[in-house]
Amino acid sequence: MAKRSSKQEQAIGITMDSDETRSSIPRVLRYALINKDLYSKKGKDLPDDFVKYFIPESEWFQKKKRGKANDWMQCQKESGQTFIQWQRSGCSLPFGRRTSIYLLPLAFIEDPIPKEILDPLRAFADVFFQIPVKIMGSKKLNKKVPNRINEYSNTYQVDAGKVLEIMKPWVPGDAFCVAGITMCDLYPRESWNFVFGLANLAGNCGVYSLARYLSNFGKTQTTVYEPASEEGGKSTIFKRACKTMCHEIGHMFGLKHCIYYECLMNGSNNLEESDGRPLFLCPVCLRKLQFSCKFDIEERYRQMIPILECFGLTDDVNWLKTRLTRLETLKKD
Ligand SMILES: [Zn+2]
Ligand SMILES: [Zn+2]
Repeated sequence: MAKRSSKQEQAIGITMDSDETRSSIPRVLRYALINKDLYSKKGKDLPDDFVKYFIPESEWFQKKKRGKANDWMQCQKESGQTFIQWQRSGCSLPFGRRTSIYLLPLAFIEDPIPKEILDPLRAFADVFFQIPVKIMGSKKLNKKVPNRINEYSNTYQVDAGKVLEIMKPWVPGDAFCVAGITMCDLYPRESWNFVFGLANLAGNCGVYSLARYLSNFGKTQTTVYEPASEEGGKSTIFKRACKTMCHEIGHMFGLKHCIYYECLMNGSNNLEESDGRPLFLCPVCLRKLQFSCKFDIEERYRQMIPILECFGLTDDVNWLKTRLTRLETLKKD
């Protein structure tokens, strides 16, 4: 008799038909995709070995760890969102004219995000989502948004919800979404200490902050970008910025926080937790994004390599290379 699928496997939307399949992963064709017919209705042919991309092999995908007392999953009630639940939630897809992602640099009383970070961020988002990503002209919102000095960090913060309201009319006609990026610290509501980012799905916009990713955060009321004084230099900042950007834009595709695997879509409560979060999507979240953007998974992985190599992100490059080699092996079976 077939074993019951784990919570994780059910979330991906793949079932394994026998114990034999379970123990011999290369025989991927024995995996059956739930809702396979939904793909053909969308006019997208599913390659026979498509399912191999979503086999949660532990070398690349680890089940979500319990985490520490102050971590997101310990503080927030998250029920997770399976692939099927995501589809049924009326997931947001880029279609018609609304097929581009826009990055909008926002500044308040601090400096805008530097071009040397913004340009490669755009390039990474372009590859990550495989839809066009464009940079909008930066906006200075000095004192136009409710603000405060945070009593714990002594930093200048702006109300993220109000920023989203201001951004709404700026959403271009061909935008799937606009992601505001700022070096200013954010808060979502008066009672909250801070937030890394906030999204308004209905308004097709989100905003996220790099303030807390810089080592001089809290030393002065506004955060200053000084790559020379950062441990790990530019690459640490770039990786953190990529993760937050792709996580926040991921929410715009209707992806909820992931509770199944260590994944880019895991919620995060603090810097240590967001640093521990992978740069890549787990099989559950990858399946959702692939369904949205219809990309070639191997080609997407391949295109990420040169960008990450530029920033010396060796571990991530290695993840991609070994993953690609593995997928190549599965092709031959
Ligand atoms: Zn989130
Ligand atoms: Zn995930």
